[in-house]
Amino acid sequence: MNNEEFWFRFRGARGGYPTPGPATLKYGGNTTCLEIHAGPHLIIIDAGSGIIGLGQEMLAALRTRGQLIRATLLLTHVHNDHIQGLPLFGPALAAGSQLHIFGPKPLTDENLRDTLKRIMRPPFSPIGQHDLLSRRTFAHLRQGDRIILEDPAAPPQYLTVHDDCPPRTPHTLLIQTHHSYSHPQNGVLVFRITYRERSLVFATDVEGYVGGDQRLIKFSQGADVLIHDAEYDEDEYAGKPLVKQGWGHSTWRMATEVAQASQVKRLFLTHHSPQHDDAYLEQLVAKAQKVFAPTYLAQEGVKVSLTAL
Ligand SMILES: [Zn+2]
Ligand SMILES: [Zn+2]
Repeated sequence: MNNEEFWFRFRGARGGYPTPGPATLKYGGNTTCLEIHAGPHLIIIDAGSGIIGLGQEMLAALRTRGQLIRATLLLTHVHNDHIQGLPLFGPALAAGSQLHIFGPKPLTDENLRDTLKRIMRPPFSPIGQHDLLSRRTFAHLRQGDRIILEDPAAPPQYLTVHDDCPPRTPHTLLIQTHHSYSHPQNGVLVFRITYRERSLVFATDVEGYVGGDQRLIKFSQGADVLIHDAEYDEDEYAGKPLVKQGWGHSTWRMATEVAQASQVKRLFLTHHSPQHDDAYLEQLVAKAQKVFAPTYLAQEGVKVSLTAL
């Protein structure tokens, strides 16, 4: 593989809860997880059930090729469908793994590390903290914070909105943070990842506004790829049979509004509703393509190269 390539793969694109079965085979039933490779760097966004299979592959690479596990894990928020795979993420158990975990500060007085500890506490989990042999670091991210990855063997460099960005080299990977306030109850982090002049924006669990989400449009401006929540069709959002407004998710039209206004090259619709099977999702994306032609469905297992765009 080209050591400078920038690519991503959906490991899970379902919202709410996993939906295995014949009706979701094509687009997948695992909850949110995105695997991103940029040269020597591995970034994972969210730890829904999709992270479990990724972890198994990382362990297999460690076993067969001795490939050390180093990854930066970005959490958009800590709702269950975005962290439920974490207790079963094999690299967290493996000695020698290094995981740098970034996410929002929880609403309570707790920090992120303690919040995540609670999902691995007996009797609810067979695995406790003492079973995790990996080296893990934790940090909170706020609006405007940035992370720089340079040397894959070194820890990520964390910069607040007030810090100057060091000069970039061809290996610099930049992660920018945007806090969307539309998702109950603590909002959600949106990430923009830039490597070798290409960029990807990941905006799950966001709800659009009338006239387009202007802050998100600015943040996504000129990105090569925008991955945007599109949980609802328009009639569902409007309230048939339950009003979904205020639940913190978008329609396909809201996603296309952001894509058009920010002039991205490609839009991927994600956070598929557990109520929508493959056939329904294809109807939904067909409507979106009439408004913004380069629209696709996030599809589990599919690899997309930003370098080749
Ligand atoms: Zn979600
Ligand atoms: Zn959520």
